[in-house]
Amino acid sequence: MVQEVWDKVRNKLKFSLGLSVFNNWIEDIKLISIDGDRVILSVPSRFTGEYITENFSHEILDCFRIVGEAVTSVKYQVQPLKPSNQKFRGTPGRVTNISNNKSGLKPDKRYTFERFVVGDANGKAHIASWQIANDQEGNFNSLYLHGNVGLGKTHLLHAIYWMKLSRDPNLKYCLLTGQHFSDYYVAASKHGKLLEFRERLRSVDALFIDDIQLILGKKGTTQELDLTLSTLLSEGKLVVATGLLPVDEMQEFGPRIKSRLQHGFVEKLEPPNVDLRMRILRQKLTDQRGSGIDLHFGKDVLEFIAENIAGDIRKMEGALQRLIVTAGFMNCTTISLELCKEAISDLVKISEPPTVEEIMGAVAEYHDLELSELTGPKRIRNVVRARQIGIYLANELTSKSLPHIGSCFDRDRTTIIHSINKIEELMKRDKDLEYSIGKIRRDLLHG
Ligand code: ADP
Ligand code: MG
Repeated sequence: MVQEVWDKVRNKLKFSLGLSVFNNWIEDIKLISIDGDRVILSVPSRFTGEYITENFSHEILDCFRIVGEAVTSVKYQVQPLKPSNQKFRGTPGRVTNISNNKSGLKPDKRYTFERFVVGDANGKAHIASWQIANDQEGNFNSLYLHGNVGLGKTHLLHAIYWMKLSRDPNLKYCLLTGQHFSDYYVAASKHGKLLEFRERLRSVDALFIDDIQLILGKKGTTQELDLTLSTLLSEGKLVVATGLLPVDEMQEFGPRIKSRLQHGFVEKLEPPNVDLRMRILRQKLTDQRGSGIDLHFGKDVLEFIAENIAGDIRKMEGALQRLIVTAGFMNCTTISLELCKEAISDLVKISEPPTVEEIMGAVAEYHDLELSELTGPKRIRNVVRARQIGIYLANELTSKSLPHIGSCFDRDRTTIIHSINKIEELMKRDKDLEYSIGKIRRDLLHG
């Protein structure tokens, strides 16, 4: 009976948490019993127990309810697996104790692990962050999180900070952005205060540096960062950094910084899928309730936002904020789908991908050609190039298959693949071409 319930719950959890999170955390867990309104799970380590109860209780309880068990809390008992099966280790230990952040960024109270929703797109980054945050033995020295804007890098960086601080209120840390680092360094060298600057940075237990790409391109500053990182890491201090680019692609950074960053955890954040976007929206509404705004948006409203605003999570937050203001203005605690569509129509338009036909129109117009020339047989150089650009953008901006794009341009699959490769290749060395494509893309996406 218990096993049957657990099998059903497990199946639901695979969907709600995503497979990679499921495999990492839930796979090895068993249901011991349902004791009144409590679920008691067997977990392989205390660490796993704490992690799943703090991060996934909500989803676990939801799934139990869906299969008909009215439970309200999750408890765990540790029953270790055989050593080879263990994925994570516990974290007792010690941290140093000194003073505090004097310069830099104010940590954001909202950015905690509790409020971070985990799914496939950010699961690995989340686990790495969690491990770093809970590692009190100094097993892990550094973490570099990268990915596009609005995917949760800063949120995780602050969450690690809060967790560290809660474990050791005297932790001596410095939290800043790449821009701050550059500014402070430049000011310090100008005013003959480099020694002080170095002393201050290098005496911390933990350095949190957000948007490291903002340092790129400034030679003196990258050298200084290199020195700072090497000093901190060689002394076993903690470095957590975030950036837009993968380590390898930060060309201005020397091989030493790169190898230092690569030595620790490096994790990429991907754009969330629609399920994760829904869950994030729900979390954001819960966060709002915490600050006294008690709104209940229907599933259809949340689905509309999640389905239509992808990528940067800040855009979804913007939409939600807009609805909250609208509801406030109209003095109601909920909002209909129609009103929602109206209120955020401009935001939704931005994130709708253009159609192949729109792309063809934009490319033809940019090159001063007739639309029919893009699909026609002409082999004149500028027509061929425009056609290739159109194909390249259709592949990049829409989710249409190559045969579909082929039929729009009246070309076979080989020509389509050749065109995409050709443009990719040319853009590496032809800045003008890169600019033209960027211009057409921007016009298409932002009107
Ligand atoms: P980045 O630093 O990658 O540009 P942020 O960490 O600033 O992105 O995230 C942008 C916004 O989206 C923040 O308000 C953050 O709280 C929210 N956000 C991103 N990912 C999540 C998530 N998984 N759960 C909850 N909120 C998230
Ligand atoms: Mg950020």
